[in-house]
Amino acid sequence: MTKRYVGSSGHSLKIRGAKCFIDEVDEARKVTNEVHRILTTQYNGAGSVFHDDTSTTQNQNLQTIVNYHNKQTRELDWSIHFNAANVTDAPRGVEVLYYDMKDLSAKVSAAISKASGLKDRGPKQRTELYFLKNTYKPAILIEVCFVDSEVDVDLYHKNFNVICTAIAEILAEHLGYAKIQTGQPADAKIMLNDSKTIPAVIIDGRTHVQVREIAELLGLKLVYNNESKTTKLYEVK
Ligand SMILES: [Zn+2]
Repeated sequence: MTKRYVGSSGHSLKIRGAKCFIDEVDEARKVTNEVHRILTTQYNGAGSVFHDDTSTTQNQNLQTIVNYHNKQTRELDWSIHFNAANVTDAPRGVEVLYYDMKDLSAKVSAAISKASGLKDRGPKQRTELYFLKNTYKPAILIEVCFVDSEVDVDLYHKNFNVICTAIAEILAEHLGYAKIQTGQPADAKIMLNDSKTIPAVIIDGRTHVQVREIAELLGLKLVYNNESKTTKLYEVK
């Protein structure tokens, strides 16, 4: 059976998180959705994600998120946040918070750092954090970068895709997901007037045929010039 996960973005639409050069709630939702998309389209992963649109107090928000996680069948909980300290043009970096998942947290932090150039602040144990303490499956909380570090935000913007890919890669490895192979040719065929048929293959959603075969199918004369790598087709009068 495929192991499942639950991912969520920190805070809620009405109880916002950190905000400076970027807005934590908006960005956490983007990262959460993209990691989920990669895990379910580029890997054979399964799970669900949650964003809190309704809570109006911090307690309500924390409980709403954790309740959602605890109601699902899953083997791993992950949450996306962005950090904040004070406005700076210095680099701050990525860190991953955990209750007892130190190894996984270290791997995720290192992978994000390697992919993006964000400084690797590494794994940090935070047993008092509501999310980590109250989700009863293994959980990690990823602080992607600092919203108030210009350098971090620049690296985050430039590397959004590779950051999400790096997170997905480590989570997939942890949950035992396999990468879905693309580019495997599938047999297909081309038919002319529902009668004559030539073979084709579909690679990455595109149908490929031999030029010579389609030329013959259409009654065209083919002349190939190897030097100029040009295939010339002539209508036969
Ligand atoms: Zn946060």
